[in-house]
Amino acid sequence: MRVDADDFARPCSCGREHHIDVKEIVIESGAIGKLEEEMSDGDLREYISPLLICDTNSYKATEELMEDIYDRCQVLILDAEDLEADERAVEIVENYMEEDIDLVLAVGAGTIHDLSRFVAHQYRIPFVSVPTAASSDGFTSTVADMTWNGVKKTVAASAPLFVFADMDIFAKAPKRLTAAGVSDILGKYIALADWKIASILSEEYYCAEVVNLETRAVRTVKDNLKEIAAGEEEACEKLMYALVLSGLAMQMTGSSRPASGAEHHLVHLWDMEVVNGHLDALHGEKVSAGTMLVLLEYKKIADAIRRGTCKVHTCTEEDQELLKETFGKKGILGALEKENTPEPLDDVSTRELSDALPKILKIIDALPAVTDMQEMMNTAGCVSRVRDVGLPGEVIEESLLLAPYTRRRLSLLRLRKMLTY
Ligand SMILES: [Zn+2]
Ligand SMILES: [Zn+2]
Repeated sequence: MRVDADDFARPCSCGREHHIDVKEIVIESGAIGKLEEEMSDGDLREYISPLLICDTNSYKATEELMEDIYDRCQVLILDAEDLEADERAVEIVENYMEEDIDLVLAVGAGTIHDLSRFVAHQYRIPFVSVPTAASSDGFTSTVADMTWNGVKKTVAASAPLFVFADMDIFAKAPKRLTAAGVSDILGKYIALADWKIASILSEEYYCAEVVNLETRAVRTVKDNLKEIAAGEEEACEKLMYALVLSGLAMQMTGSSRPASGAEHHLVHLWDMEVVNGHLDALHGEKVSAGTMLVLLEYKKIADAIRRGTCKVHTCTEEDQELLKETFGKKGILGALEKENTPEPLDDVSTRELSDALPKILKIIDALPAVTDMQEMMNTAGCVSRVRDVGLPGEVIEESLLLAPYTRRRLSLLRLRKMLTY
């Protein structure tokens, strides 16, 4: 399967001309052969001193198949144990960035990509992506999720020049990683609903074609859950394709809006560790736990709207105490206040919100029922309960209250602060 970036970069009905940085994406069995060709005779021929960054796990999974590529690159194998995209790992990579390095090859999953993308951006050299697991939609993203002094930060980075996703590698990845990729995609149900709701109530940019693209990614995965869980190659290829599409949707809008709503805000909150300790869970696993919590709450709101018991009021200051107690204790209250200024709810009047309730109801009704979502996650082998990601049940309510503050972005979870139901 080939994805040609030109197919996505064209004038659009939203009025923008979407831009995509990735030149070409190859998702197929034998993609590594294509990478070799590009390095020998193709567009990558001009780079004479590439640095290949992998970890002990991704090295083991690829050393045979990629033997020739390892031979022609300088190779940095990071210890997979406790590996994070943090200042310590960046320092190790930087020690390998000799002056003549002119290309970075990322061979691995999310963390290796965040590191490679970040360093390549710092040094202004291109990077090429070789995903070893279909575990998240970050491969084609233009931002890197880094941890500085224990605090998660999303920082600007480069999109890959090429993606070579070889089915002979990623379809054999541990099942837990593949299930996490499915989770990241199922979270888009919430993300898209939030974007649609925000577009009714604010002037925020919205593109129906990007929504269609992301919806296509969700449908592709939803229709192949059992096969993906069984590790069937063709289905795993579809999952990788969906993850790539989701990354491209973010490039097209220049933000994570199409792929990240209230469910990801919960993940950001948990990653900040203000209501919980360190969670030993994959990104996608946290996304599915977040998705279930948010879906349950949105369905409650929908039921109340239907019964006529959902009341709209102005936003109160009642979260202030809790914000001080949690973010304040971590010394990041100032940063949080900055992120939330101006407050997006200030632009939403009670009248507008009341008038929008029937439309909101329609959007929520179009989401899968809680039991159906649960079944989808079970079928794909996804984690879905908060306790499975290591969170105690007591933090659920606090999490729902605080998550919207992690990003200045309108979501129904944020609008919930103006609702009684
Ligand atoms: Zn558009
Ligand atoms: Zn995600």
